[in-house]
Amino acid sequence: MILVFKELKPGRNAFSFTAEPAELDLPREDPAFTETIAVELVAHKQVNLIQLRLSAGTRVRMVCSRCGETFTRGLSGEATYVIRQGKERLTREKTLSDEDVFTIFTTEGELDTLPLIREVLLLEVPMRPLCREDCAGLCPVCGANWNVETCPHREQKEETRKSLAVLQDLWRQMQEQHREG
Ligand SMILES: [Zn+2]
Ligand SMILES: [Zn+2]
Repeated sequence: MILVFKELKPGRNAFSFTAEPAELDLPREDPAFTETIAVELVAHKQVNLIQLRLSAGTRVRMVCSRCGETFTRGLSGEATYVIRQGKERLTREKTLSDEDVFTIFTTEGELDTLPLIREVLLLEVPMRPLCREDCAGLCPVCGANWNVETCPHREQKEETRKSLAVLQDLWRQMQEQHREG
């Protein structure tokens, strides 16, 4: 959607619309943006600037960084921009609430919001996606998916973990005795 400044009425202007991943040039793989994106835009027109609040949400298919399974989850993000007339550059300002606000300087009478929506969504993509918080991952020896099956190595790993924990406890106790004595 193109925001045409002179078409905005003074004060609050709200828009909701949808966009397709292809229009936004979003990745089709890793993560895969395949579903429609819902966008809410609120533009506050003031005398010499426009404040723009943007939020966008969709569902994305990703590959779990731990078990390699593909999963789909909701993804949403928002950002605030201040649009000012002037030389075109993008800076980041801090407001009193310490919230990030991007300042856009433009000499045009309009602004294409699609690149902003793209940016807002891409910022929310996790660096290491997880199918679920407690994903157990794959066995490093035989590759069994520990979320759905088990294998002999898992018990060994559990035992190693337990004996390590016992050793760490012993070590801690020794340290404490040493400090007291
Ligand atoms: Zn996983
Ligand atoms: Zn195994």
